[in-house]
Amino acid sequence: MHLLNKIVVAGLPAIPKRIVRFFAGRYIAGETLQHAIATVRQLSAENVCATLDVLGEDISTREEAIASRQQSNEVLHAIAREKLDSNLSIKLTSLGLKIGKDFCGENVREILRVAAGYGIFVRFDMEDSTCTTDTIDIFRILNAEFPNTGIVLQSYLFRTENDARRLVSGKVNFRLCKGIYKEHKEIAFQSREEVQQSYIRLLDMMVQGGCYVGIATHDSVLVDAALAMIRGMGLQKHQYEFQMLLGVRSELRRTLVRDGHKVRLYVPFGEHWYGYSMRRFKENPAVAGYVFKALFARNR
Ligand SMILES: Cc1cc2nc3c(=O)[nH]c(=O)nc-3n(C[C@H](O)[C@H](O)[C@H](O)COP(=O)(O)OP(=O)(O)OC[C@H]3O[C@@H](n4cnc5c(N)ncnc54)[C@H](O)[C@@H]3O)c2cc1C
Repeated sequence: MHLLNKIVVAGLPAIPKRIVRFFAGRYIAGETLQHAIATVRQLSAENVCATLDVLGEDISTREEAIASRQQSNEVLHAIAREKLDSNLSIKLTSLGLKIGKDFCGENVREILRVAAGYGIFVRFDMEDSTCTTDTIDIFRILNAEFPNTGIVLQSYLFRTENDARRLVSGKVNFRLCKGIYKEHKEIAFQSREEVQQSYIRLLDMMVQGGCYVGIATHDSVLVDAALAMIRGMGLQKHQYEFQMLLGVRSELRRTLVRDGHKVRLYVPFGEHWYGYSMRRFKENPAVAGYVFKALFARNR
């Protein structure tokens, strides 16, 4: 990252929340389920489907984990009731992963039971590397019980090649992304090129293995590589989809839809918007720069 960008990003936590909230608006559907429903409807009108995510991670009490489970279940009821073209994404730390693996597994199982009743797909998001083994373990157990589930793998981790190989043999439904958390050079590729190369190798392994893949990226290099693979292998619609984040590269999303590809948007919502938005700003220091400009404009 450019030095100036590093300085901008490092200063973000000092900015008042109300200013951050204004700029976070592009990345989150809003704070309530009603906001999320409205966003999904709007996307449907643009031929884009969604995955809804209730924001909130790193909780510290059982009560918070149970509240988070209930919120996810409310989303499932809403998807069914409102006939939304959406599935659900969950983060295991918000469901108690750091409190206990069994406790978390039971919370997830409860969500998957409700989802299965409606035939709604549930995606296990992947968090930082301290969660990878447990997330995969819980996924493998529950995927055997609830096949309408999938997992995320991150191309920046060295271990992902082995993880993917094991999961591919079970014909798992993947979302493949680069990975958003800061990981140490001993366990993760650091350069953009290495992360891209790893992504392409993994995507190839997953599609060759006959798995459905959610190609989650806004990186034109990777989108072009994926398109070449789709053409070269003659992949059909039921074998892949592109996935993008709300508020990022909508022109690329429109092009993919226009060219006949299935596109799904990650639609986060909820009160706990701050951590998620800060990660998005760090990915895009240009937007972080606007936050600073807004601050200084107010103070002039
Ligand atoms: C649907 C989806 C789900 C994801 N789930 C996970 C997950 O479970 N675990 C995980 O670790 N990571 C997840 N990620 C994040 C992912 O790992 C990357 O951090 C993120 O997608 C940025 O990488 P990129 O491939 O888009 O490439 P980049 O090189 O970061 O982005 C390519 C281009 O997209 C634009 N862009 C990217 N980010 C922004 C932004 N915030 N604001 C404005 N423009 C931007 C810029 O033009 C940039 O040049 C997910 C991403 C997507 C799309």
